[in-house]
Amino acid sequence: MNLLITGGAGFIGSWFVRAALRDELPGLSGVHVTVLDKLTYAGNFANLGPVAEHPRLDFVPGDITDTALVNAIMGRHDHVVHFAAESHVDRSIASSDEFARTNLLGTQVLLDAALRHDITRFVHVSTDEVYGSIPTGSWRENSPVAPNSPYAATKAGADLLALAYHRTHGLPVTVTRCANNYGPYQHPEKLIPRFVTNLLSGRTVPLYGDGQQVRDWVHVSDHCRATALVLTAGRPGEVYHIGGDKALTNKGLTGLLLRACGADWESVVTVEDRKGHDRRYALEDGKIRRELGYRPEVEFAQGLAETVQWYRDHEEWWRPLVID
Ligand code: NAD
Repeated sequence: MNLLITGGAGFIGSWFVRAALRDELPGLSGVHVTVLDKLTYAGNFANLGPVAEHPRLDFVPGDITDTALVNAIMGRHDHVVHFAAESHVDRSIASSDEFARTNLLGTQVLLDAALRHDITRFVHVSTDEVYGSIPTGSWRENSPVAPNSPYAATKAGADLLALAYHRTHGLPVTVTRCANNYGPYQHPEKLIPRFVTNLLSGRTVPLYGDGQQVRDWVHVSDHCRATALVLTAGRPGEVYHIGGDKALTNKGLTGLLLRACGADWESVVTVEDRKGHDRRYALEDGKIRRELGYRPEVEFAQGLAETVQWYRDHEEWWRPLVID
């Protein structure tokens, strides 16, 4: 299998690449991997450091909106996993240009090239945020998308485009929608690494509004294993939810992070809530469990403790990325 991975130098994509090259992902043993990544502020070649010299890895620095480049590469591959995106909600509120360009136009360029080059399988990696907010219960794969942030709106648009390429052209696309990820190598602008790196630096952490926003957490390794299952055995044209097993309010999560970092509530500053902040996300993920045998394997308390320890041990990785 020749696998093209977009965004493979980011948080989740780099875990997928490292795991694939170590033959740790189901159905992907011996896979040859090409990473196409623009190395934006969020992409970091150091994330691939442990496998940088691997004989089955090619790294192509470049933009997924570059039609000529994408077409030149696509022909050498039979499978695609599309992680590349602008991914930070707060940045999309400040300015959504790059979100529309990368998340919408970039996905369209990839889908077109995949069609032209007869790609066997294309996984479009998406998020639970496309559904908006749900006060009780959980979304199923056929729930309507109703995104609230510009980030989520561009992801929802890309999902619809991907599904349209299946319906219109028969392109073998599957869409995954995953809950919030955590783990090593996540950019310190995101909640868990931001809070951990602030607390380890003796600084305060900002908690949005009343902190009662509910998110479900999944370890990045579980997300990547689920993605590999969808790539090799998912049904084209289908959406698959990937849930964690740990729903927490942001305030509850903050309490756990304070304890893990040896700090207390004196380190927390309440700040004005994010504009349009979704209150609650919840995915019903019985489909991937029934059809593909997926179960999250990383128990949250252990995964979180290991993640905090990783940031303790890798200050040289995150210190240059801290913005404020
Ligand atoms: P990330 O921001 O850490 O990484 C994104 C990567 O994409 C970076 O390496 C960046 O350089 C690259 N990139 C950005 N624009 C590009 C472009 N125009 N051309 C080529 N490369 C480009 O993101 P992440 O958290 O690893 O998320 C990966 C995917 O998973 C995204 O599609 C995101 O929507 C989705 N997702 C993330 C989460 C989460 O909790 N982080 C949850 C569900 C789904």
